[in-house]
Amino acid sequence: MTATPNSDAVGQAYVEMALAIEQHQPGTIDAYFGPSSWKAAAEAAGKRPLDELAARARELAAAVSASDWEPQRKHFLSKQVAAMQTSLRLLAGASVPFAAEVEALYDITPVRVDDAVFEEAKRELEGLLPGDGSLNERLRALRKRFEIPLERALELFECAKEETRARTRALFALPAEEDVELRLVKDKPWGAYNWYRGGHRSLIELNTDSPVHVNGMVGLLAHEGYPGHHTEHAIKEQALYEQRGWIEACVLLINAPECVVSEGIATSAAEAIFEEGEMEQWMRAELYPRAGVQDILSLEDTLKIQRASQVLGRVGNNAALMIHVDGQPDDVVIEYLLRYSGRTREEAARNIRFMKDPLFRSYIFTYSYGHDLMKALFAKYGKRAVFERALSEPLTPSGLRAWLSA
Ligand SMILES: [Zn+2]
Repeated sequence: MTATPNSDAVGQAYVEMALAIEQHQPGTIDAYFGPSSWKAAAEAAGKRPLDELAARARELAAAVSASDWEPQRKHFLSKQVAAMQTSLRLLAGASVPFAAEVEALYDITPVRVDDAVFEEAKRELEGLLPGDGSLNERLRALRKRFEIPLERALELFECAKEETRARTRALFALPAEEDVELRLVKDKPWGAYNWYRGGHRSLIELNTDSPVHVNGMVGLLAHEGYPGHHTEHAIKEQALYEQRGWIEACVLLINAPECVVSEGIATSAAEAIFEEGEMEQWMRAELYPRAGVQDILSLEDTLKIQRASQVLGRVGNNAALMIHVDGQPDDVVIEYLLRYSGRTREEAARNIRFMKDPLFRSYIFTYSYGHDLMKALFAKYGKRAVFERALSEPLTPSGLRAWLSA
């Protein structure tokens, strides 16, 4: 890193608050690339009393609103600080209704999806999927056709990485020196994770608890790497932290509105670099032959299956509401997930563990709500213009909604 960020007391107080919350709830900070002395000081201070932190967070919120920063920076930080205040309340054991928790942490309102929507997508899938048996069995049979041996996984992921990276470089201003390392891991609650390390570098961990499927690789690399999480963080580190000297941009939080924007970028990342059907054509031409896999479906049916599966992907939202609002037992929620997906029972159980983790219990909503905002913006302003802004400006869901209705 070359540029020295301007010293800024409010920005520093924000970063220190994040580091203090991290002492109570490890994992709160998704990435940190600020001064190492601040991190060391927070670790030395350990768990400061929660009422002391709540008082400091109130002062921070007041300082942000009194600052003479430009409106976008100020709006972003005020929303992020409000989320921190909610995290502190939750850590102190306050009882916060689940919907209010999601609103305060992520700046979105969680709404249950009508099961009729899933039934419709399920009927459509049943008409498209080969074979017979339940929807779950048929989805799993289709998925199985794309399963590859673990020892081939890394090399094929690298191939997907190079393609998504080249396309991203051609469209967006990635820092000249940036890098993504891929690593296979086991025994994790998620399928893949991008660990942003600062200095325009990321480590993407790919969980191999479940078999690896070649048809998901390009979408996954687009989501985690190019032009998804890695790209966003690398561009923002350069544009906000290094060039503008906005010190608060050196920390990324898990329970905050910025996640909705990040997941909106990530879930539409493949769409940003491929035209419709282009990714599947590329996989059929380049990736499947290397993997020794053949697609038996027409391109048209594959795309229809993808769209219907995307609708069914939202059963996770309802599952979170079943757990946290209705208080349904695990087995009921597992059956619900299996009815509308090709998950195995173990995968459904893993999803539930993820949704019960205090750090991730309401995270599931960030994906679909972020995705919907991006899709609506694409339709209005075009995907390239939307991506350029989302990759380089501090945005919140409220900010995206205001942009949409501007
Ligand atoms: Zn993601």
